[in-house]
Amino acid sequence: MLLGCIADDFTGGTDLASMLATGGMRTVQTIGVPEGRIDSADAVVVALKSRTAPPTQAVAESLAALRWLQAQGCRQFFFKYCSTFDSTPAGNIGPVIDALMDALGLSFTIACPAYPDNGRTVYRGHLFVGSQLLSDSGMKDHPLTPMTDANLVRVLQAQTRQRVGLIGHDTVVTGAAGILDACKAAATTGIGITIVDALSTADLHAIGRACAELPLLTGGSGIALGLPDNFRRSGELPDRAAAGALPRIDGAAAIIAGSCSTATNAQVARWLQTRPGFRVDVRRLLAGADIVGEALDWQSRQARRDPVLVYATSTPEEVRAVQSEAGAEQTGQRVETALAEIAAGLAQTGTRKFVIAGGETSGAVVKRLGIRALRIGPAIDPGVPWTCSVATQPLALALKSGNFGSVDFFEKALNRLQ
Ligand code: ADP
Repeated sequence: MLLGCIADDFTGGTDLASMLATGGMRTVQTIGVPEGRIDSADAVVVALKSRTAPPTQAVAESLAALRWLQAQGCRQFFFKYCSTFDSTPAGNIGPVIDALMDALGLSFTIACPAYPDNGRTVYRGHLFVGSQLLSDSGMKDHPLTPMTDANLVRVLQAQTRQRVGLIGHDTVVTGAAGILDACKAAATTGIGITIVDALSTADLHAIGRACAELPLLTGGSGIALGLPDNFRRSGELPDRAAAGALPRIDGAAAIIAGSCSTATNAQVARWLQTRPGFRVDVRRLLAGADIVGEALDWQSRQARRDPVLVYATSTPEEVRAVQSEAGAEQTGQRVETALAEIAAGLAQTGTRKFVIAGGETSGAVVKRLGIRALRIGPAIDPGVPWTCSVATQPLALALKSGNFGSVDFFEKALNRLQ
């Protein structure tokens, strides 16, 4: 195992894992810190749920992940956070970087959340979302990590014991050698973490190349773009044409949609134009009806066991109406539990391929199915790969956070498995 990654949330971890698999590394994503060994992997992404945890907990979990990755023999480490730098003055990006640097005995690392393909760029240390400064984007109103300052040097400085510096775009465009020289110069002046500007994918490749020998990198999944090439250049990673190949998995297919995002609403509507679907009636569910039994019974009656959609997906107005009666959290959990039970029932009767829409919904289903690790396969859409559970009877899973994927995502995902 070459590269050990620690991601501060699940779907962000998948995004990174997909990038590494596409780059030719055999990649496994684990849900939390694993207990045993993982075989046949060049990179492992340990996905935590630490983004908004109390800082002490985020640090403890990240250090546990680091220890496990060290025990697997990784020679480089990557701390992955969101490309919108989701954090507060209390953390958790700064405290986790500090702790990882201490544990690895390091005095220097970089911080680069840029991901130009997704519209996240960093210029003169300022983070842009599309053409807006981070602090003018929707992130200023985020319920847990409102980002009201786009100056990342200032934002990170408030969270870390290290001195924070900046490598500007004028240096980055000079290429990997210039970036490396700037890193060395920064380190000698006592800078512990440097923000690095990046405006293009070419910039990310140059930064990745400059960091080939850096034991710890931190950033969004973008700077991982250049890392597989580093390992190939050093001779540690063979050419793996089939790094993202998954075993053939036979069995019925189901789509479980618990996301109510705009994208998922459109994807559900598109599927229902030509394919069967079972709508979870949330009001009846809350009133105690056996929706799980009804859904399983419905699926067993489908002709030739066609791929089916089970969805709770509703319009924002419908969601608000039911939430105002039963409470948002209570409703969400009841729906998640029901969808997870339906997935478990389907798995018991021969469904082996699952497309799950919704971050929280994916978490609930994966937990209910007892899955602890996923081998990463081919990308369906950017950031959403097919995966297969690491188990004696593997399942194929595509876990889509709400707003990801094209309107024909469900059909596209199933075709990709043929
Ligand atoms: P996303 O990735 O779009 O945020 P999530 O699965 O993370 O999707 O979150 C959606 C939440 O909404 C879940 O808790 C889910 O159980 C809940 N939910 C799904 N359908 C409904 C509905 N019809 N009414 C109320 N809540 C719902």
